[in-house]
Amino acid sequence: MIKRALIIGAGIAGIQASLDIANSGYEVVLVEKEPSIGGHMAQLSETFPTLDCSQCIMTPRTVEVGHHENIKLYTYSELDSVARDSNGDFTARIRRRAAYVDWDVCTGCGACVEKCPFKVESLFERGIGPRKVVYTLSPQAVPNKPVIDADNCRYLQSKWDIEAGRLPAVDAKGNPAKPKCGACAKFCPTGAILWDQQDQIFEEKVGAVIVATGFDLFPQSRLPEYGGGKLPDVVDGLAFERLLAASGPTAGKVRRPSDGMEPKEVVFVQCSGSRDPERGVPYCSKICCMYTAKQAILYKHRVHDGQAYVFYIDVRAGGKGYEEFLNRAMEEDSVMYLRGKVSRLFQDGDKIMVKGADTLSNRTVEIAADMVVLATAVLPRATNRQVAEMLGLAIDDNDFYTANDEELEPMVTAVPGVFMAGTALGPKDIPETVAQASGAAAKVLSLFQRGKNS
Ligand SMILES: Cc1cc2nc3c(=O)[nH]c(=O)nc-3n(C[C@H](O)[C@H](O)[C@H](O)COP(=O)(O)OP(=O)(O)OC[C@H]3O[C@@H](n4cnc5c(N)ncnc54)[C@H](O)[C@@H]3O)c2cc1C
Repeated sequence: MIKRALIIGAGIAGIQASLDIANSGYEVVLVEKEPSIGGHMAQLSETFPTLDCSQCIMTPRTVEVGHHENIKLYTYSELDSVARDSNGDFTARIRRRAAYVDWDVCTGCGACVEKCPFKVESLFERGIGPRKVVYTLSPQAVPNKPVIDADNCRYLQSKWDIEAGRLPAVDAKGNPAKPKCGACAKFCPTGAILWDQQDQIFEEKVGAVIVATGFDLFPQSRLPEYGGGKLPDVVDGLAFERLLAASGPTAGKVRRPSDGMEPKEVVFVQCSGSRDPERGVPYCSKICCMYTAKQAILYKHRVHDGQAYVFYIDVRAGGKGYEEFLNRAMEEDSVMYLRGKVSRLFQDGDKIMVKGADTLSNRTVEIAADMVVLATAVLPRATNRQVAEMLGLAIDDNDFYTANDEELEPMVTAVPGVFMAGTALGPKDIPETVAQASGAAAKVLSLFQRGKNS
């Protein structure tokens, strides 16, 4: 068998598994669909229950992955297909999307990003901050190489319009028409912009696979009673992380998106979409109670005269130091916990009116909030079915990957040589994710030592 592993997804699960295997002397092919690695952990401000800075604890690992001689990293890439031979080895076809930048020539100096005159909403910043059309995901991005967002690039769009005859081929003076803009190429000191770059296909042979493709969040548009994603000052948990993060659009200052005001009353709504079979999410998202407590604490650390309210159905704090962390939120940081559901919220002038019930005192509650943070449900990736089909994996009723033996071998699939780790299997926090990733890596290593994957 080929003693080389393919890992799909470079969030903290994929990173941990890659490093464990690579540091044991085996090669790893790590495939990540975004331009850089880190997954959702790269978006977090600080982590519960220690309040460590997320970037600070993750950066040594991302940098190690970026430089590791045993790790071959494909970013901006996805699995196109996978075939298995009679030895049980896999041939993976990996598609790297056109970035319109030659990464072998690019030095990561950032001149293209600086000179690009156009900004669009950044998905990494959850829509509360902009990015340039030429961009890297974050200042600490690994690899630190930019990509051009073709959908919003004036040069590429006008070039393609001229080529397809949608724009005239000659200008008013009869000269061949030139595409608009092109500032990035003009200022790039190494000539790294490649306007004609195409998607590329690479083939890699491996003896084992780990699926670590992570999670998505329930879209606010599916919560019409909470504004349906149309109220700018009603944000989800990840957007609030970006507001709290020193590397975020407000440099860690809590400012509400609509007018930049410092919010003095913030309402956090747990179970926004979770534990709701009618919305197709019957399960508990497991991390929301803890990250909401963390966000309420961090909000109070930033806005000393602010008040945080948390609406909860019940509080689930099963983890080392978690219950104590929650008590700290209530006792030391005076976060007001209200047991009950928010029935509806709506814009009233510059306030968000939050109507709910406090089931402990049996009264209805109405809060005129400056901002609302929804702890939206953890969802499986929309592409899970596609990846599962390619590899022959099973997925559960909720579309998370599922193991053959959920109790004793939770990271082992029914397909010999294919393992999985992290939130691709269901909601979990970072400690549980890395423990499972190391478990999946150990399974791969034992396979390599046995020399047989079928
Ligand atoms: C608001 C919020 C706050 C949180 N705060 C904390 C906290 O304080 N402490 C804590 O312990 N946990 C926290 N968590 C949970 C934490 O984010 C997760 O435990 C962790 O990010 C899971 O890592 P992962 O690698 O499984 O998934 P992800 O971070 O989702 O990474 C998966 C990676 O796979 C890539 N990918 C997906 N599909 C493909 C594909 N088909 N091909 C190639 N690549 C693919 C993705 O782009 C991504 O980079 C928080 C979560 C949220 C939502």
